[in-house]
Amino acid sequence: MTYSAAEDRYESMPYRRVGKSGLQLPAVSLGLWHNFGDDKPFEVQRAILRRAFDLGVTHFDLANNYGPPAGSAETNFGRHLREGFRAYRDELVISTKAGYNMWPGPYGEWGSRKYLLSSLDASLNRMGLDYVDIFYSHRPDPQTPLEETMGALDTAVRSGRALYAGISSYTAEQTVQAAAILKDLGTPLLIHQPSYSMLNRWTEDGSPNLYQALDQVGAGSIAFSPLAQGMLTDRYLNGVPADSRAARDGSLSEKSLTEDKMARVRGLNELAAGRGQSLAQLAIAWVLRDQPKGSPVTSALIGASSVQQLENNLAAVQNLQFSTDELTAIDEFAVE
Ligand code: NDP
Repeated sequence: MTYSAAEDRYESMPYRRVGKSGLQLPAVSLGLWHNFGDDKPFEVQRAILRRAFDLGVTHFDLANNYGPPAGSAETNFGRHLREGFRAYRDELVISTKAGYNMWPGPYGEWGSRKYLLSSLDASLNRMGLDYVDIFYSHRPDPQTPLEETMGALDTAVRSGRALYAGISSYTAEQTVQAAAILKDLGTPLLIHQPSYSMLNRWTEDGSPNLYQALDQVGAGSIAFSPLAQGMLTDRYLNGVPADSRAARDGSLSEKSLTEDKMARVRGLNELAAGRGQSLAQLAIAWVLRDQPKGSPVTSALIGASSVQQLENNLAAVQNLQFSTDELTAIDEFAVE
């Protein structure tokens, strides 16, 4: 089936600069952690990806282990590229990562040069790409010298397998150190990918906190799981639907949907309705909200299991403004 992207694809999505770099990302990006493995019909995946690009989502985020099975999200994405997106490669920012368990033995996870560079080659192979736009160290490795891990990212960029370097889930202190090493090597740290949502604010803790550290080193950030894997949507307001992530009991367990948590979520849902937004839209707008020094979040990295969810989520960009009273009311429900 031939695909021609919508002519008006750049008309509704805002693009935001990543730190002090030359790269801009869409305010909302799409991740392929769930919903793009071999367990999901290929046509549904295709519909979500095409609709996303038609609505201005230029950034797709992957990792070596996304599936299931691990690797299949990249393989499927490669097929989507071949069957429709190939002509648009220069309009896409594609990222991948290595850090979590991918193959057996001592070289199949964490942060060694040995693992990162062979994993990147395998990712490029699965996707049928010459290069990715961003290559991430997926998690800090307490056993490997940071110089080695950052050196591998630098090699990835220098060898042309990646255009930019990123890190994920590093603390503020590790981020400052990583950025200094990369700067010395001549490959600036582009971006950090932390979890961040109304219910998960670790990035705002500590001094300097992660956002202050990123500001200091001139890097941007992309917030993963801004919907708390679906908890910050209407998905679980009336129980656990059979086709939901929590029902599959993988990364989001039904047990985590406690009475207390759901009472908070219902409160947030009412606040969202008062703003004329769905709860998902409120949650995305909140991570992207303006702050006194501008927003520290370049992009909200969402997941979607259907075109309807995707469309609902992307409409969040129509209202990113919050009054002080609204922010206070949100904190009353969201902060435990
Ligand atoms: P979200 O918090 O956006 O959760 C997405 C899930 O929420 C969907 O799969 C769907 O669940 C539900 N949902 C989404 N929109 C709606 C809606 N409008 N109404 C109702 N339910 C909705 O993000 P993810 O947890 O999926 O993470 C997003 C991306 O972040 C990943 O794909 C990955 O790229 C990245 N990530 C990175 C990590 C890292 O370590 N760097 C770790 C985790 C994620 P359902 O299936 O139930 O329909």
